[in-house]
Amino acid sequence: MATQSVPEYFGELVFDDRDMRSRLSSKVYASLRKTIDEGKKLDSSVAESVAQAMKEWALERGATHYTHWFQPLTGVTAEKHDSFISPSPDGSVIMEFSGKELIQGEPDASSFPTGGIRATFEARGYTAWDPTSYAFIKDKTLCIPTAFCSYGGEALDKKTPLLRSMEALNKQALRILRLFGNTSAKNVRTSVGPEQEYFLITKEMYDQRPDLRYTGRTLYGARSPKGQEMDDHYFGVIKPRVQAFMIDLNEELWKLGILAKTEHNEVSPAQHELAPIYSTTNIATDQNQLTMEIMQKVASKHGLVCLLHEKPFAGVNGSGKHNNWSMATDTGMNLLSPGETPYENAQFLLFLCAVIKAVDDYQDLLRLSVATAGNDHRLGANEAPPAIISVFLGDELSAILDAIENDKPYKADEQKIMKLGVDVLPAFPRDTTDRNRTSPFAFTGNKFEFRSLGSSNSIACANIMLNAAVAESLKIYADRLEKADDFKQTLHEMIRKTIKDHKRILFNGNGYDDSWVKEATEVRGLCNYRTTPDCMPHLLDEKNVKLLTEHGVFTKPELESRCEIMLENYCKLVRIEANTMYDMAMRDILPAISAYSDILSESVEAKKAVNSSLACSYETSVVSKLSALADQVYERAQTLEKSILGLSDAKDIIAESCKIRDDLLPRMGELRAAADEAETMVDSSVWPYPSYGDMLFSVR
Ligand code: ADP
Ligand code: MG
Repeated sequence: MATQSVPEYFGELVFDDRDMRSRLSSKVYASLRKTIDEGKKLDSSVAESVAQAMKEWALERGATHYTHWFQPLTGVTAEKHDSFISPSPDGSVIMEFSGKELIQGEPDASSFPTGGIRATFEARGYTAWDPTSYAFIKDKTLCIPTAFCSYGGEALDKKTPLLRSMEALNKQALRILRLFGNTSAKNVRTSVGPEQEYFLITKEMYDQRPDLRYTGRTLYGARSPKGQEMDDHYFGVIKPRVQAFMIDLNEELWKLGILAKTEHNEVSPAQHELAPIYSTTNIATDQNQLTMEIMQKVASKHGLVCLLHEKPFAGVNGSGKHNNWSMATDTGMNLLSPGETPYENAQFLLFLCAVIKAVDDYQDLLRLSVATAGNDHRLGANEAPPAIISVFLGDELSAILDAIENDKPYKADEQKIMKLGVDVLPAFPRDTTDRNRTSPFAFTGNKFEFRSLGSSNSIACANIMLNAAVAESLKIYADRLEKADDFKQTLHEMIRKTIKDHKRILFNGNGYDDSWVKEATEVRGLCNYRTTPDCMPHLLDEKNVKLLTEHGVFTKPELESRCEIMLENYCKLVRIEANTMYDMAMRDILPAISAYSDILSESVEAKKAVNSSLACSYETSVVSKLSALADQVYERAQTLEKSILGLSDAKDIIAESCKIRDDLLPRMGELRAAADEAETMVDSSVWPYPSYGDMLFSVR
């Protein structure tokens, strides 16, 4: 491998276009391409030929198994491996794989969350090949990206609604393009480049922490004397061990055809980021899932553990995922890129306005699309974008919108008022102030960056909501423009009206400011849903159900089931955390505090035996402090246990999630505070866990 150049091995584990072209007859290839590019239905003879070609290709690369690879609502990917072997009468085996096996699979769906769909519909689910995302080989297994549905057709996964949302946007965006006289574009696809943050710690440290092993984050831990305050880690020199990991990771990702591009250290010690070059949303989604998996695998080869949790350590930054999003035609026109002619500019502004309107109208959907127990620790803390969704446009673009809204010259020294579709917009270079990292939704020149996603989230949910909401804006615009007598005039009025109606969502200031929270909620009336229980029930608000069902993204039962599953996930996760905390307190932390108090007490006795007038003030004062803290830890652990037991009284999942937010999480915080204080006084060799300092500064 080392001797091969990157272009030689890039994508070698992917059955990509090169393989399809060289291994399929031109007729089969053309037919498959039509399916991939235009969503045409695939006929079964084509599937049969593709399956044979895929099998041969996979066998040549040492694969023995195949799997339908899918994304159930557990948040991780799922796979069930079948080997290619099939017995021959003479006792030998042959390797078989049919078109039918390629197209459809039947994993036992009963153990995946379906949130009531199982009861209402059928227990079984099936997986269906998504030919738009290439098959690949992982661990000697041919992985076929698939959608996962119930037999009634209800989506049980994240890919199905994502594909539906892309189709909804495609349909409406094409209507707009046609109105602008574009007859050549065959489709509009959304593209995404997800920047992935993560932590790396040594496996040795990880193994000693039950909290990390069970929940992915530290539930206890006194602050390290040094954290991120020096800003010396961000973009800092990459340590050799991390470098070795990154080199290996890139190689694995490149083999899988993933365009890993940028890597650097992030703000917190032990925190890093990987950004790929963007691709079509459903491919980017599959590849991001795969990236997270490969990161963990490669880390383990290096004796490291990759933490993808949103908040593995208190007191330093958590990890997010920036969803760089745009829309482009198959002919390569980025619809969020300002053009050079008046017409192109008017078109750009219309698409821009569609996004602004979408974000304002469906703030709640965007917020809940990124809501998880883990991400609740990030949003609202002074590091990640706030839980309030707003749009950053930068000074230049804001000034242009302002001029349009108020019919005034764009620049004070220019007399002329701009008429859309008539005048050329002034060139507005990528705004230099776009480094406003506090904005949850920022325009960065030719794309929007949605920054509220959690590092472990699938990007599917955020993109489903974004695509659907933008499709709705475009639909409203297209409905009006198609009927308009005067296209230019109507266009101009619509853009002005959007700016007027939705400027409350535009905010270029500092999102971390307390004054922003006040202004956003009290003056502008924006939503501020701080936690998952606050926002998730809004999935079923009438306007949201209307949007998502009308655009064919979800059915009502699918939405009901998803709301339930998301809340269930939240409750289960926090319960596990609470149980882990209780366990750690009772079985490790309290015994450690006692043991150290004994050591100190014995030392006092021994010293006094030598000289009874010795003060022993260190020992005696620490023993008394520890004794008080031990009582506190014990009492708080008991209170926590009561809260856990009390959860079973909740009448439904919404009530349970609220109890968790209002009762369980605060109790967990109190228990932690007492234990963390004790940690600062106990001999580090007696304390049962590696410290924050050990973990954050261990990888060299
Ligand atoms: P920055 O670092 O300033 O945020 P980059 O140009 O490095 O911006 O891009 C960050 C991410 O955005 C990368 O993953 C990149 O591929 C992606 N990106 C760039 N252009 C687009 C686009 N038109 N659509 C979607 N993602 C894009
Ligand atoms: Mg970034």
